Amino acid sequence: MTTNPTLRSFIPVASDCHFPIQNLPYGVFRRRGEEHFRVGIAIGDQILDLSVIEQRGFFNDTALEGNNVFSDSSLNRFMAQGRDVWHEVRQCITRLLSEDEPALHDDDELCRQVLVNTAEVEMKLPVEIGDYTDFYSSREHAQNVGTMFRGAENALMPNYLWLPVAYHGRASSVMISGTDLHRPIGQTKADDAEAPTTRPSRLVDFELEMGFFIGPETKLGKSIPIENARDHIFGMVLVNDWSARDIQKWEYVPLGPFLGKNFGTSISPWVVTMDALEPFRCSGPAQDPPPLEYLTSNDEAQALDINLEVSLQIDDADKSDVICRSNFKYLYWSMDQQLAHHTINGCNVRTGDLLASGTISGPTPESYGSMLELCWRGEKPIKLSHGLTRTFIQDGDRITMTGWCQGDGYRIGFGEVTGKILPARELPASNPGATQTQSTHQR
Ligand code: MN
Repeated sequence: MTTNPTLRSFIPVASDCHFPIQNLPYGVFRRRGEEHFRVGIAIGDQILDLSVIEQRGFFNDTALEGNNVFSDSSLNRFMAQGRDVWHEVRQCITRLLSEDEPALHDDDELCRQVLVNTAEVEMKLPVEIGDYTDFYSSREHAQNVGTMFRGAENALMPNYLWLPVAYHGRASSVMISGTDLHRPIGQTKADDAEAPTTRPSRLVDFELEMGFFIGPETKLGKSIPIENARDHIFGMVLVNDWSARDIQKWEYVPLGPFLGKNFGTSISPWVVTMDALEPFRCSGPAQDPPPLEYLTSNDEAQALDINLEVSLQIDDADKSDVICRSNFKYLYWSMDQQLAHHTINGCNVRTGDLLASGTISGPTPESYGSMLELCWRGEKPIKLSHGLTRTFIQDGDRITMTGWCQGDGYRIGFGEVTGKILPARELPASNPGATQTQSTHQR
C-alpha cells in the first residue's frame, strides 16, 4: 500500500508532529478516571477511539473478525488477524480522518464521542507480551563492547557475522513509558575484591533499541522463511533496555544476561505499523561474508531510515541534553533476518511476542546507544549543560528516547519512551528472623 504524502486530515497536524494522517499508530488508552482501557489511534494531539468507531459499524465493510476487537485492553486480537485486515482497517481510518470525508468531520456529536485529547489520557502497555527476545544486531555496538572487554582483536565473536545473536529476556518487567524504576540491587564483585557483595548497582545504563511485535503466530516446528517474515511483523516501538553493568559483568559468563537486564525494559506507547514505515525502507550495511541461504533475502531494502535521539534530564531540571543521535538503519541484521533465524529450529512465535534489536550504535561516537559506549566505560564523562558530568545514570536522572522518519513535509514518529531512575529500595533483611521493611515508593 502506498502512502500519500499530500493527504491531510481535518484535524490540524503540525509538520513536525509525530502523528500525521500518514502514520496512524495504535495504542491502548483511557481518560483519567475511567475504568476501561480500549484501542485508539493517534492523530495530531488527538486520539481516535476505535472502540466506538467499530461499534458504529464503520469497519463492517472490512475483513475485521470478531466483536468489539477494539474494546480490548490490548492489540493482540487485532494483531493476530494479519496483513490484509491491517491494510483494510488502515484504509478505512485514513478515509474517515481525511479532510474531504464528511462522515466524521461533519458529525459534531460523533466527533465529541470519538476524539479524545491526548493530554486527558493515560496509556498502558499496548500489547500483552508473552515472550521477549533481545537481539545484539548492531555491529558497532558489539565491536565497541567487545573492544572494551576483550580488546580490539577479539571484539567480535566468531559467530557474529554469521547469525543474529540474541538472548531470551523477561516479558514480566516490560513497562510502559513514564514508569519510573528503582536502581536495582544485586550481586557485584569489584575486580580486586575476593568475594562479591549485595548492593545497589553503581553502573545503571540505558540501551537505545527498537522492537517489533509478532502478529499472526506460528505452530511449533514451523520456520518462517525470510521472504514471509513481514507477514508476521505488525509494527514497532522504541525500547529502552535498562542495564546494570556491574551486575551484568559478574553474572554473564557462561549463560549471558540475567538480573543485570530484567529489572525493567521500557517501551513507547504507540505501535507504528509497517504500512506507515514502508516509504522509509532503505538498504542496510553490506554483509560480508554473505549470510547463509535462509538469511538471504531478495529484497535489498531490509533496513528502515529512522532517526533516533536520547536525552538526559537531571532532577526534573527545565533543560535536558541530547546525548546520542543514531539511526535504525545502522543495524547489521534486519528484522526479517532476526525472525527467520529465530524460527529456523522450529521455535514458534506467538501473537504479541516482542523482538528487540539490541543497542543501536552507529559509526560515530555521538551515535553510540549506551552510556557504557558514550563514556567508554567511564573514561570519558559526558558534559551536560548544567556544568555537571555523567558516566552512568544517577538517581533522579530521566532518560528519554525519541524516533522519527522524515518525509517530505511530514514525520512518521514514535513519540517517546521515558523513565526516571529512583533511589534503590532497602536491601532485603539478611536475618530471617528480622522484620523485612518494605519501601514506600510506588512503582
Ligand atoms: Mn539490550
